[in-house]
Amino acid sequence: MPARPRPRLLLVLAVVLLGAGGGFLALRKVERPAPYVPPPYSPPPRRTNAAEGPNLLLVTLDTTRADRLGCFGNGLVATPRLDALAASGAKFEGAFCPMPETDPSHASMLTGLEPGRHGVLENGWRLLPERTTLAEVLRAAGYTTYGAVSVEHLGTKTGFHQGFDVFDAEFEGHQREGGDTLALVRTWLDDVASRPFFLWIHWFDAHRDVGAKPPRYRPPEAYLPDARTERLYEERSLPAEVARYDAQLRYLDRLLGDLLDELGRRGALRNTVVAVVADHGETLHELVDRFEYGYTHGDYLYDHQVRVPFLLAGPGIPAGKVIREQVRVFDLFPTALAALGLEARIPEGLDGASLLPLVRGEPWQDLPVFLRSDIRTKYRNTHEAALRQGGKKLILSREIPAEFFDLATDPEERRNLLAAGAAPPEAEPMRERLRAWLARGLAIEEQEIDPDLRKALEALGYLQARPERSK
Ligand SMILES: [Zn+2]
Repeated sequence: MPARPRPRLLLVLAVVLLGAGGGFLALRKVERPAPYVPPPYSPPPRRTNAAEGPNLLLVTLDTTRADRLGCFGNGLVATPRLDALAASGAKFEGAFCPMPETDPSHASMLTGLEPGRHGVLENGWRLLPERTTLAEVLRAAGYTTYGAVSVEHLGTKTGFHQGFDVFDAEFEGHQREGGDTLALVRTWLDDVASRPFFLWIHWFDAHRDVGAKPPRYRPPEAYLPDARTERLYEERSLPAEVARYDAQLRYLDRLLGDLLDELGRRGALRNTVVAVVADHGETLHELVDRFEYGYTHGDYLYDHQVRVPFLLAGPGIPAGKVIREQVRVFDLFPTALAALGLEARIPEGLDGASLLPLVRGEPWQDLPVFLRSDIRTKYRNTHEAALRQGGKKLILSREIPAEFFDLATDPEERRNLLAAGAAPPEAEPMRERLRAWLARGLAIEEQEIDPDLRKALEALGYLQARPERSK
């Protein structure tokens, strides 16, 4: 039996606890939001030219690194629903975004074009109405199209709603918690399941460290790492922020599972092509020593910022397929149309290619991966552009020396072979190819960001003035 605490000590303890608890409660009272109430749903009119092909569900996971998910090799966090989806279809081990930023990358997925061609080179820039989106093509093919996003800069102000019969980007604040986005989509599901549909849901929950978010945008407490989990990460020399990041992925896995279950209960899942992809990855701890650069994305083109998960499952997609060839997120547009049996509707002149032949094991020619960063608003010593081809990667920057990596022997991109003195024979031809590609995008017109959206982006941690460093 523990000794009984002395009354006086008990009193002191009670006062301290009450004080702390009172403060905590007051804090929670101010910050805790009212429960989310989805807006009323009004179904769009029925079409007579209803499509007969499978449905399409597109899930975009913001800020999700491939290598932090269970099915891509992270043994520290359970992502059973993503893993099961990967096992039931095709898993692309080498999928890359063209630019590690939300709007440019999403615009690429939705148009099949590289940022240099669709023109969205920064968060907050508009996807112009003259671009043709996946939603527009599917709507013209008879699909009813639904979109729900979780951050303001993927909304109507930036033109991401084009082609959607039902689109929701209305929420208090600048973002929406993933469970709230799912609650909204739930109100659509009975109607969705009764029509040929394209449903795009975007979840923002992996963006930023848990500690940097107001409580309403954090995953439920049960998902956050406990002391034992943190110790597990510490033993592997991983900072606590990585444990918190992984926890957010675990929560996203749960949300995805709930969505799939809801569609399954309505009998819609078996006739649905499901694509899960991320817009970009995240630097977690890799660049702190080298560039004083912590938990964010957009500025460096190492694989941890640009390699993303990409899963495709459903009718016509063979199960258990692991694809090691490199692909790009903008290949999604023609791939999705091909998977729905709508090859004839793939627009001419896309940068993306249908990945179905690759999925089916047909002859395939390696695709180049061109990468660009946002170089206007950030540090000067960031990457500018990169080319990944033939297992090699060349990165060009404005103020740091060019880098060249042999990805087969150095997947973490630590040994710059150009710094070692002897230039590998591939380096010069790759540099010429990359320079020529970069020159292609220079006709894009600079856009003014909507002033309200600029404030929103600043509140989310974007567009902040950053110190210029000379080295
Ligand atoms: Zn993003």
